Amino acid sequence: MSDCIFCKIVAGQIPAAKIYEDDKVLAFLDINPINPGHTLVIPKIHFSNLTQTPVEVSQNLIMVIKKISPAIMKGVGAQGFNLGLNNGSIAGQIIFHMHFHLIPRFADDGHKLWSGRQYQLGEMEKVAENIKKFLIPNSYFLYG
Ligand code: 5GP
Ligand code: ZN
Repeated sequence: MSDCIFCKIVAGQIPAAKIYEDDKVLAFLDINPINPGHTLVIPKIHFSNLTQTPVEVSQNLIMVIKKISPAIMKGVGAQGFNLGLNNGSIAGQIIFHMHFHLIPRFADDGHKLWSGRQYQLGEMEKVAENIKKFLIPNSYFLYG
């Protein structure tokens, strides 16, 4: 997409600190990292989010994450990492080119995870049933 900043990074039109590249996937450092080594893993072809990304392309991204995460951890001396994905603007997505966030974690880095809340009695079972109604056998695309 011509106005997509990540497509421009793929095309070499704007610079990025690339750490891994193959014919389908690119990984580069986030310009505003939560921690040093915060990496964005993207398909070279433009898809707006995970919902729109074909399953084969999604698998390629996970394979690259498996490949590069040990090097990222060693490279920055992290003890673990969070894998993140903001799917849609309501979820905090700002760049509408599919990407995973790989966020190295350190002891006492101050990064907070979500805090859980409680279901009402019986609510959890109802929610599970409502979701299962919409599952389509052998399909990875629930909505479009
Ligand atoms: P989102 O909220 O869409 O999941 O996150 C987009 C991420 O892309 C943000 O963490 C932001 O810092 C990063 N980002 C935005 N523009 C650029 C850029 O031009 N270069 C790099 N390396 N990262 C960017
Ligand atoms: Zn793009």
